[in-house]
Amino acid sequence: MTAAPSPTAAPAQPVAPFLPFTRPTIDDETIAGVAEVLRSGWITSGPQVKAFEAKLSAYCGGRPVRVFNSGTCTMEIALRIAGIGPGHEVITTPLTWVATSNIVLDVGAKPVFADIDPVTRNIDLNRVEAAITPATRAIIPVDLSGQPVDRDRLYAIAKKHHLRVIEDAAQSFGSTWQGRRIGAFGDFVSFSFHANKNITTVEGGALVLNDEREAKLAEQYRLQGVVRTGYDGMEVELIGGKYNLTDVAARVGLGQLPHLETFTTKRRELARVYFDRLAQLGAADLGLGLPVADFAHTNWHMFQVMLPEQRLALKRAEVMAQLHAAGIGTGVHYPAIHLFALYQRLGWKAGDYPHAEYAGRNILTLPLFPGMTPADVDRVVTALIGILKANRKS
Ligand SMILES: *Cc1c(COP(=O)(O)O)cnc(C)c1O
Repeated sequence: MTAAPSPTAAPAQPVAPFLPFTRPTIDDETIAGVAEVLRSGWITSGPQVKAFEAKLSAYCGGRPVRVFNSGTCTMEIALRIAGIGPGHEVITTPLTWVATSNIVLDVGAKPVFADIDPVTRNIDLNRVEAAITPATRAIIPVDLSGQPVDRDRLYAIAKKHHLRVIEDAAQSFGSTWQGRRIGAFGDFVSFSFHANKNITTVEGGALVLNDEREAKLAEQYRLQGVVRTGYDGMEVELIGGKYNLTDVAARVGLGQLPHLETFTTKRRELARVYFDRLAQLGAADLGLGLPVADFAHTNWHMFQVMLPEQRLALKRAEVMAQLHAAGIGTGVHYPAIHLFALYQRLGWKAGDYPHAEYAGRNILTLPLFPGMTPADVDRVVTALIGILKANRKS
């Protein structure tokens, strides 16, 4: 039973559609291209993969690039190419997607965490040298939210201690360091094209390598160790996996690449709107932590704020629930890795990396993607500031 609307009632407010924290932008040309691949008769790894690799290599200054079905296996394969395994240690950050350290365990090596710098939220390079032991073989820096780890200092440390670097650049495709593209220099560089990343292949990843020898090994690890020659030659020399990217996925990537610049520009503009509105509404007075306002290097993969734990009467989950009720999606990237049950079983404990733990409890990813408008940002900031003001700890 619904009452008939009174003729004097105000018209219903149009309800804004739910705003997710991210959403891919895929154009019609790409969708048509995917249909063409599906009709072509060749749907798994083939000409689209080759074309995508060639484009990525050109983007990375001509370095060899191979594509895979995730941005996780890329890093595992880099570790294998570098000969890293049992008895070796690999230094990384505790504030990242758990893939970053899981792959170290996967190859039988030991992850060694160095706490984050609370300002950049990336691994604190001041702590990296102290974590180096005779067993250390590599560093895996992570560019959280696309903010690049200082490559000059990173490679100075790596060179001094003869360490390999596997850049977990899953989030920093499109970022630069001192005018150079991430991927165009350095040691191994790993990108992810997961649906949430700045460009996508639905699922997928790419590994930038140093030379053709490494590229050939990457191909072997990618597909059962197989090397083919001539019409019928086939050899297997090492244990590879099943990590190849399909042509369907590669076609999506080929359709995304031409938009990279506009996607990054759009993200940057929206990030500026976030900073402006947050300042106007007094975010600093409420103790809200903001990302580094770096408009020179980052691709603004995410806009992450730090909730003011000591001054807020709500837990993060409650803030997220209230935002959700207001039609706004948020995310947590990420809980501190060393506090996961698996890692605690391996010996880590609360208190080991206090900055990462604080961030793990309080970091919050707000919506940011190229399809958003400044009005969407307004809506998010107004809702968030309203929640913070209404729930100040007295
Ligand atoms: C997305 C991501 C990965 C893994 O990428 P997948 O393609 O999902 O396997 C690794 N590290 C970081 C920091 C990521 O954000």
